[in-house]
Amino acid sequence: MEPQVFIVGAITLILLVQILIYLALSSKTIYCQLPNMRFYYHGKTLQNYERLPIIYVITPTYTRYVQKAELTRLSHTFMLVPNLHWIIVEDSEWSTDIVSKLVRKLKNEFDFHSITQLHSVTPERYKLKHGDPSWKYPKGVWQRNRALEWLRENLEDLDRDGVIYFADDDNTYDLELFSEMRYTRKVSVWPVGLVGGLLVERPIVNGNKIDSFNSMWGSKRPFPIDMAGFAISMHLFISHPGANFSADRKIGYLESHFLGQLVKSWDDLEPKADKCSKVLVWHTKTLNPALNGERKLIKPSSSNVEW
Ligand code: UDP
Ligand code: MN
Repeated sequence: MEPQVFIVGAITLILLVQILIYLALSSKTIYCQLPNMRFYYHGKTLQNYERLPIIYVITPTYTRYVQKAELTRLSHTFMLVPNLHWIIVEDSEWSTDIVSKLVRKLKNEFDFHSITQLHSVTPERYKLKHGDPSWKYPKGVWQRNRALEWLRENLEDLDRDGVIYFADDDNTYDLELFSEMRYTRKVSVWPVGLVGGLLVERPIVNGNKIDSFNSMWGSKRPFPIDMAGFAISMHLFISHPGANFSADRKIGYLESHFLGQLVKSWDDLEPKADKCSKVLVWHTKTLNPALNGERKLIKPSSSNVEW
């Protein structure tokens, strides 16, 4: 073989190998999924999860520094739950870039497709002003109502045997909670950790009935239950077409007012989580980050950074 031909051949081969290495390294990350392995169900992986009733999880959310972190954390819980449809409702006049981008990423890169992104802004009059105590107005009212409206508008395409759950963006959810609420006839209830001034706020169960509640705060409420402590069946929701949340009730009566439109008494509540003896959701709160260093910078630390 001519030496020139050999040299040209060798160079071509080296170039080709380099191109292949480049392509391999620059290709998009692929998140591998094994069939039925992504989902958690009562501690076991589940075959035929398509047959489970769908849980419609409603999350109000608003713009602040920790929002993306909160929603990222939450999404990683929800994407492990089979047949869960996540309805994110932003407290804003339009969909924001941060949330839209996150939703796109969840769909495109994590294969988490059952997400609906809505928005509904809280009227100015119900927004906290500087110096107001944090409990002055109820939060997430217009957002949860927007989600209920969406459910009613789309009933045709939804699972009538499904369940509705209100999951705030800062709480912490055990995957087992979703197995507990999956089969709800009317309203299912369970304990909530770290709420109402208690380690555990919970219904006290006697036999299969609820005897009382251990709440210390607002114990006169007809249903002394936090938003995170109950789920309602789609059937019950459909049979009460006017039921929704109101910001004009007594402070702290948001849940009681909503539940009062759906059921008559504690006898209609189904205790879950081992007769309400297990905490599977915590009313955690995230601190606002201290950004005192940021104020000293001429250019924000986040400029030219995807954060
Ligand atoms: N939220 C909202 N707009 C607001 C404040 C709160 O949409 O102006 C949402 C928030 O993202 C959360 C829910 O409403 O999902 C409850 O708010 P937060 O966790 O601050 O209330 P708390 O835990 O004090 O009841
Ligand atoms: Mn909260």
